[in-house]
Amino acid sequence: MLTDGFVYLLALYRDEGTPLGQVAVDVDWEPALQWVRLLAMREGRRLEDQSAPLVRPLWHESGRPYLAAVRVALATSSADRPVSCDFTTLYFREAARAAAAAFVESGRLISGERLRYLVLALTGPTRPSTETAPRFTVRRREPAGAPAERALLPIPGCTKSIGSPHADDPPAFIGQHVLDEIAGLAERETEVETGGALIGHLYRDPSAGEVFAQITAQLPAQHTSATATRLTFSSDTWVAMREEAVRRGAGERLLGWWHTHVGGSQESDDADEAQLVGRVSPLNFFSHHDCALHRAVFPNATSLALVASPRPGDGIEFGVFGWRCGLLQSRGLHVLKA
Ligand SMILES: [Zn+2]
Repeated sequence: MLTDGFVYLLALYRDEGTPLGQVAVDVDWEPALQWVRLLAMREGRRLEDQSAPLVRPLWHESGRPYLAAVRVALATSSADRPVSCDFTTLYFREAARAAAAAFVESGRLISGERLRYLVLALTGPTRPSTETAPRFTVRRREPAGAPAERALLPIPGCTKSIGSPHADDPPAFIGQHVLDEIAGLAERETEVETGGALIGHLYRDPSAGEVFAQITAQLPAQHTSATATRLTFSSDTWVAMREEAVRRGAGERLLGWWHTHVGGSQESDDADEAQLVGRVSPLNFFSHHDCALHRAVFPNATSLALVASPRPGDGIEFGVFGWRCGLLQSRGLHVLKA
């Protein structure tokens, strides 16, 4: 990743404006990069395999070193302009939360206090020579398989949607039978959390300039450890689910994961509401732990997570979570009858 030689700092302030301090941040650019990859895929543009992404600060009107946004760009294999997207300083939200947590730990801040942050980009020290640095090989987690071409499914023809579909998101569809299976499993296991994989196909509609996902099945997870407030997948879990997807022979790929939040579950070690995405009801949220798992296993912009939680006396409530513009947000799924 090229960052034009800049290092990024957060300046934290109390809500009324008193400065708290500045901290350097090691920015996780991967979700932004994946969003730019999605934009390229939508337009059907081939990315240059070997080219490094470029991150460039866009200055705030008050001038350097304050940021209004960062532009993340990827070169395409043709000679035309790169594919790029501008990410506002909201992109630094998680880094700001981590910095604030460190202030709380050191006793300089009271937990629960409201803060503001500004993002600064400074010209950093040049990197040391890599000549003597140890070498290692990076392997892709997922085969790079390009999506098959197919006309976008008619969204109004769907029976319903769950979660919060948004116009910026790549549309995603799920069969009602998949939701029914997950609901059945969630109703059967009410003491501890349970979960699995969402598999299906990724398509691209060239005429609509859109990429969309169709979830065709769920695979219950094996090799997990579960409590009432946390489900932990092991590396064996993901290996087994990938093998099962291949064994089915339908060309399905891993599109995401699902898990339950059982009665009374607050994933309590992460109960700080500020760290949770989309709490629409007591159990329908994405915890800090959920965010960490999704980032580690599903950084692709099209990946989704489904949270199934019992609604007392009224079946199962589904929450949908995933990436939008490099941030984990509430997402939506259109439900297909068959
Ligand atoms: Zn969870």
